[in-house]
Amino acid sequence: MRIPTIGLEIHTELKTGEKMFCSCLNDPNEVKPNVNVCPICLGHPGTLPTINREAVEAVLKLGLALSGKIAKNSHFDRKSYFYPDLPKAYQISQHEHPLIEGGMLRNIRIHRIHLEEDAGRLLHELPGSKKTNATHVDFNRAGVPLMELVTEPDIKSAEEAVQFARELRLMMRYLGISDADMEKGQMRVEANISLDMGTKVEVKNINSFRAVHDAIVYELERQKKLLEEGGKVIHETRGWNESKKQTVSQRTKEEAHDYRYFPEPDLPPLEFEDADILRASAGVPELPEAKRHRFVAEFGFNIEDVEVLIENREYADFFEAAASELKALVPGTDYRLLYNYFTSDLRGLMNEKNVSVGEIKITPEHFAHLTAMVERGELSSRLAKDILLKMFETGEDPEILKKQEKLEFISNEDELKVLAEEIIGKNPKAAEDYRKGKEEVIQFLVGQVMAKTRGQADPEVLREIFGRLLN
Ligand SMILES: [Zn+2]
Repeated sequence: MRIPTIGLEIHTELKTGEKMFCSCLNDPNEVKPNVNVCPICLGHPGTLPTINREAVEAVLKLGLALSGKIAKNSHFDRKSYFYPDLPKAYQISQHEHPLIEGGMLRNIRIHRIHLEEDAGRLLHELPGSKKTNATHVDFNRAGVPLMELVTEPDIKSAEEAVQFARELRLMMRYLGISDADMEKGQMRVEANISLDMGTKVEVKNINSFRAVHDAIVYELERQKKLLEEGGKVIHETRGWNESKKQTVSQRTKEEAHDYRYFPEPDLPPLEFEDADILRASAGVPELPEAKRHRFVAEFGFNIEDVEVLIENREYADFFEAAASELKALVPGTDYRLLYNYFTSDLRGLMNEKNVSVGEIKITPEHFAHLTAMVERGELSSRLAKDILLKMFETGEDPEILKKQEKLEFISNEDELKVLAEEIIGKNPKAAEDYRKGKEEVIQFLVGQVMAKTRGQADPEVLREIFGRLLN
């Protein structure tokens, strides 16, 4: 059996207001080319870069969240290479003194995290798909803060690599430092893959979690076959071809660039004081892993159920606020109904209308109130769904909506009395049990009327009527 050794290099665009070394807007959604540009990010002679504090703090936060070591002294270097999307013909990066060294996530050791700037983008087709024979360059992305995280080669399988990358993305979203959307190129994964600690191959162009998995599986298989046939793995960079589901050789390491690194003379070294670290650590919220375990302990859910809440920090916050309110309204609740209404009904509405938790009109308090009304038997679950939809549209209190709804459903006492008498007639045993002191039978009888009227009867009035009729 051959032992895989996998290390990841993950580039992430940071969600800062401005670019890394100038005050141009960092807007990943800008579609018009070359609007967020200035002489600095276009690399004009005589311009001077300045360091974006927000970007540095973002990396410090991630470093702290991963228990990495923050460099006391760190600086930027020039990495020289020529490419049409790199206007200066060098990239400002960090070579010998990265911001963060060490750290750990899901039992995978972090080697280092450093900060650099992104390059522009080559367009072989103009927006609106006007075909031309030329290649165009969009510099909107040039100079956007880019963070590179490198793991130690601790990963043993494609599944483990995907889990690591997913957890890192979740953590970065919790920290609010990046949306890390792989489809949009905000997070890009490269994998260094070898078997039996042999020659490693670097695989690039991996643009989804699915591709992370498939590329590693393919590459491990390719290397295994090669070795079994008596061949040799060569040190090279390969690209993942999504349509062919194959890695394809891009260049061998013999052709690798000499980047001629040297310290960036236009930028001061970075020195951190305790106050800087303190400020960064104040910006680190409860992390996904801690929240998972706390939710399991506090709500009694299993770890799989909790995942739906954890996958989005806003979901987790909303649910937690609603749960605390529900506990006050219905002591002893098991939070099951709240969980179901949240994960299926409310999330269904949000997906349907394409809005986030932050955008909805329902408050956690009202949501908990609705759940409490159902748990107490004041509202049928059918009516609860109607009211939830109205709450979603108006943000109104469920109690008020219920009163308005009453006009539409049966609360007329005479009408309900007829229905109640009919149900008692059909269930003489239940009526008998009630008279013998089994008071909970009322709930069963109310349920029968609710079923018959498809939830349109008023359960409170019904309970009163049954009480009167049976006594
Ligand atoms: Zn600029």
